[in-house]
Amino acid sequence: MGKGLALDIGGTKIAAAIVMESGVLANRQQIATPRGDARQLSAALETVIAPYRHQVDFIAVASTGIISKGLLTALNPANLGGLADFPLQDCIQSIADLPCVLLNDGQAAAWAEYQLLKEQCDNALYVTVSTGVGGGIILNKKLLVGNGGLAGHIGHTLSDPLGPLCGCGRRGCVESVASGTAIGAATHGWAQPLSAAHVFTMAREGHTPAENILHRSATAIAQMLADMRIALDLEQAILGGSVGLAEGYLERVTSLQTDLPDIYRIPVQAAYHQQDSGLLGAALWARAIL
Ligand SMILES: [Zn+2]
Repeated sequence: MGKGLALDIGGTKIAAAIVMESGVLANRQQIATPRGDARQLSAALETVIAPYRHQVDFIAVASTGIISKGLLTALNPANLGGLADFPLQDCIQSIADLPCVLLNDGQAAAWAEYQLLKEQCDNALYVTVSTGVGGGIILNKKLLVGNGGLAGHIGHTLSDPLGPLCGCGRRGCVESVASGTAIGAATHGWAQPLSAAHVFTMAREGHTPAENILHRSATAIAQMLADMRIALDLEQAILGGSVGLAEGYLERVTSLQTDLPDIYRIPVQAAYHQQDSGLLGAALWARAIL
């Protein structure tokens, strides 16, 4: 298949890199995701893709949101300016007329992480806890994409029916309780509202209210992992994202799992690939299906 151009379209940045046949990433660059409409996203994609278009044989895209039949729809309108049915595949192919494969970013990251686990297990879940909560599911060694592109959106499973309203429109999703955004939002009533990173610092210094916020977030993730384990008979979970990989967070999740009956517990390990998992996973997926 030769070299591919991998793109990772997130809520805050669009990253691009050439992915060599060996899997090595080269010429990585990124720009801020435009805070606007479809026309601005098209222009941003043109800026990112144009310099690479004569250097690669295919394009592989990992994107936040729901990817279905070549279209991109933001599940949480706070991301991507609430885009709906954006013709992502057509837009990219009008910039560079190359074979193009699209995948949700959580699904792409799950596929990249699973390559390191495929000798050890058949069924796994990747979870990213960051600005939002996303994920991807591997069942019987295959990436679950779904006919509508929804598979793996575990951030929008229920954590607390009386919890905060989620950006997707439902109340009490895991994302609305556990994400970095939710951790920051939980301090909005404080004299000095904090970012998620500051909540971690305060908790480390023994600040009980900060500790309680992190406990609530980790509990939501531990319970969601238990639900997914019992629903799908999963064997391994992988935790990534800026909150998921923050000091002490994985240990909180695994320790909360020990309160559960044995059958609900699942081994959890830290994600290996960090900010490049979407790029790498999309490229690996494209090579597998093109
Ligand atoms: Zn939601």
